[in-house]
Amino acid sequence: MRLMDGKKGLIFGVANERSLAWGIARSCHREGAELGLTYLGEALQKRVIPLAAQLHSDFVLPCDLNNDEEIDNVFRAVEERWGQLDFVVHSVAFAKKNELNGKYYDTSREGFRVAMETSVYSLTAMCRGAAPYLREGGSIVTLSYLGAERVVPHYNVMGVAKAALEASVRYLAADFGKRGIRVNAISAGPAKTLAASGIGDFKEILNWNRDNAPMRRNITREEVGDAAMFLLSGLASGITGEVLHVDAGYHIVGMRAVTDEEEAAYQAAQAE
Ligand code: NAD
Repeated sequence: MRLMDGKKGLIFGVANERSLAWGIARSCHREGAELGLTYLGEALQKRVIPLAAQLHSDFVLPCDLNNDEEIDNVFRAVEERWGQLDFVVHSVAFAKKNELNGKYYDTSREGFRVAMETSVYSLTAMCRGAAPYLREGGSIVTLSYLGAERVVPHYNVMGVAKAALEASVRYLAADFGKRGIRVNAISAGPAKTLAASGIGDFKEILNWNRDNAPMRRNITREEVGDAAMFLLSGLASGITGEVLHVDAGYHIVGMRAVTDEEEAAYQAAQAE
C-alpha cells in the first residue's frame, strides 16, 4: 500500500519540469495518487499535456486563478470526472518583474494589486471552488518563502504577499478544520524556476542559501515534492495551519554559517 493510493488531487502551477509543482506531482504520482493538472494560458498547454502524460493523466485543464469562470469550469470538470477530491495544491505566484528590485516603498499600486491578487487571493478563490468537492480527510498545500518572515533583498512586494498567504493558510485551516480538511504551506528554499528568474539577483540568493544553510546546500524539487506529499497524505492527519520549512535549515540561521576557515581553525586548535 502506497501513501497516496486511491487519492485524487488537482495541482495548480505546473509550468515546466522545473516547477516546484512538478516535483509535488511526481511525488504524489509515485505514491499512487491520480492527478489532474491545470495550466495558465495556451502557451503552457503544449508543455503541460506531455508532463501529465508522464504521470498517466489526461486530465489537463486551463485555469487562470484570477478568472472566476475558469475556476468554476475546473471544478465542474472535477465533479463530472471524479465527483469528489482528496487534495489540491496551489503552487502559484506572480509579481511584475519591475516590482522585484529596488526599494519596497516604490511598489506601485497596480503592482501591489497584481501581486496580491495572483499570489494570495488565488489561494482563497481556489479553496472556495474546491470546498464543495473536498472529502473529509482532504488536504490543501500552498507554497511560501522566507521573505514572508524576514526581509530578503529584492523580494519586496512578494514578501508582503507571502506573509498574507501564510495568514490565509491559518484562516483557511480554521474554515475547513471541522470538516477534517487541512490547509498547510511549505516555505521552500530558493530553487531555479521560471518564477524565480524574475527576482533581482536570484543567483546571489541561491548561493547565499547554499553557503549559509545548516546543511550547506540548496534544496531540490524532489525534496519539496516529498514534503508536500507528506502534508497531503494521511501521515500528516494532525497537522493544519502550519508553515513547514523545506530549506536545508536556512530559516534558523541568525547571521551566517561558520566558514570553512573558522571550522579549520577550530579543528587545528582542538588538535593542539
Ligand atoms: P513556476 O514559474 O514554475 O510556477 C509558478 C506557476 O504559477 C506557473 O505555473 C504559472 O503558470 C502559475 N501562475 C502564475 N499566475 C497564475 C494565475 N493567474 N493563475 C494560475 N496560475 C498562475 O515557479 P515556482 O518557483 O515553481 O513557483 C511555485 C510557487 O513556489 C510559487 O508560489 C513561488 O512563490 C513558490 N516558491 C518558489 C521558490 C523558488 O525559489 N523557486 C521558493 C519558495 C517558494
